[in-house]
Amino acid sequence: MSDSWTPDSWRSKPATQGVTYPDEQHLSKVLSKISTLPPLVTPSEIERLRFQLGAVQRNEAFLLHAGDCAESFDACTQARLLPENISAKIGLILSFSLILIWGARLPVVRIGRIAGQYAKPRSSGTEIVGGREVISFRGDNVNGLDPDDRTPDPERMLSAYFHSTATLNHVRALLTSGFASLHHPRDWSLGHVRSPALREEFERIVEGLSDALDFSTTIGVDSGRENPRYESGGGRGAFGEVDFYTSHEGLMLDYEQALTRSFPLPSTHSLTRPPSPVPSSSPPPSPPKAFYNTSAHFLWIGDRTRQLDGAHVEYFRGIRNPIGVKVGPSMKSDELVRLLDVINPDKEDGRVTLITRYGAGKIEDHLASHIEVVKKSQHPVIWICDPMHGNTQTSSSGLKTRNFGTIISELTSCIRIHGACGSRLGGVSLEFTGEINDEGFSVTECLGGSMQLSEEELGLRYQSFCDPRLNFEQSLDVAFLISEHFKK
Ligand code: PEP
Ligand code: MN
Repeated sequence: MSDSWTPDSWRSKPATQGVTYPDEQHLSKVLSKISTLPPLVTPSEIERLRFQLGAVQRNEAFLLHAGDCAESFDACTQARLLPENISAKIGLILSFSLILIWGARLPVVRIGRIAGQYAKPRSSGTEIVGGREVISFRGDNVNGLDPDDRTPDPERMLSAYFHSTATLNHVRALLTSGFASLHHPRDWSLGHVRSPALREEFERIVEGLSDALDFSTTIGVDSGRENPRYESGGGRGAFGEVDFYTSHEGLMLDYEQALTRSFPLPSTHSLTRPPSPVPSSSPPPSPPKAFYNTSAHFLWIGDRTRQLDGAHVEYFRGIRNPIGVKVGPSMKSDELVRLLDVINPDKEDGRVTLITRYGAGKIEDHLASHIEVVKKSQHPVIWICDPMHGNTQTSSSGLKTRNFGTIISELTSCIRIHGACGSRLGGVSLEFTGEINDEGFSVTECLGGSMQLSEEELGLRYQSFCDPRLNFEQSLDVAFLISEHFKK
């Protein structure tokens, strides 16, 4: 990495989507407080994810990146719901990945958009609410959804830290106390799938899996772990029984910088060069250090903040975490390669995931040439498809929605184009939720799917305060479709 990088070197570059706070001193006070708080994730967990993403890059595993468009602080306080929100989210991620593991016989690396996805880029600084122009809602760690609460408040970043911590703590607890056990997949809120065909298909997998696990236990090979070949550095995964990682868009650079810390590279990863012989009288060499963003395992740069000479790219190039870059239709081919040169100059495996999001009608015009230039540049990347963000539309009633058919169309085009270019789709990035209401019904935010959600039904349980998400059933539909494809 170039020597001039520091956790705050981004400050000398133009930052798009910046937030203006009314009181700079208040902001500094909050940031210095955050910078003294403990890390949320550890360097060994981050390195473990890099290692696993290396496997995705070699086509030995599939990456599932999924969760809410934006989390709200409330989402981690609704413990009265059964199943409560966080376990419903994790349950869906586990169910989705089980379908892929079982159907496509592919290990799945799971990264949730969770425990920190609180900030949103917006296309305009202001919006009209109830006939009046107010500052746009930028996510719970900037301002409030209530139009009277739109002034950015730095205290919200501190609150974001504590809500991330509470969410992550609950996720870790769930995953280390049997919730994620492959022996109990029925606990992952399948009870709320109403479509008999989907239930039946999932039940078939659960029964097959249960037989396989019984057999393994009988012959004594049930290690209790799902992907033992991914051990990197001994011990169990980031969260015990199954691996699960967290992510968010690295949008609020003030916040990200406050949680960026220098650590020695974990021992299993420090031997990138053979140690030089040291005379016995010299002190032992100190292990090399790196800067880790300790707010999440994986961070991504959004399509609106990926300017080559901008603050976000400057910040991202210096952190050791694996990172994602959203690639939309406005990305020029040479720009993409120059960006890769900046964020991964040493062409390290598992470092960069390109998340393509062109839209079903535009993918044909862009993906093939992007694949071609990246191949030519010899940059190692993981390609994943985000079939959500290029396919947002407004319903006749004015609700932001996405059509299941259009989502599937971009996804299937993506798989086909990769095949035709001698490449392979390494994963998907989805906005979905396993959230259900008190009566056991899923959200109604995207049209179609096997439940054939219609425009008239959209308003029934539209919960998202940002982009529309696939619900439990629609998400399982996508999982079965991908698993069918990779079975071939
Ligand atoms: C998102 O992932 O929620 C998002 C805003 O995506 P993009 O940067 O691709 O528009
Ligand atoms: Mn979104």
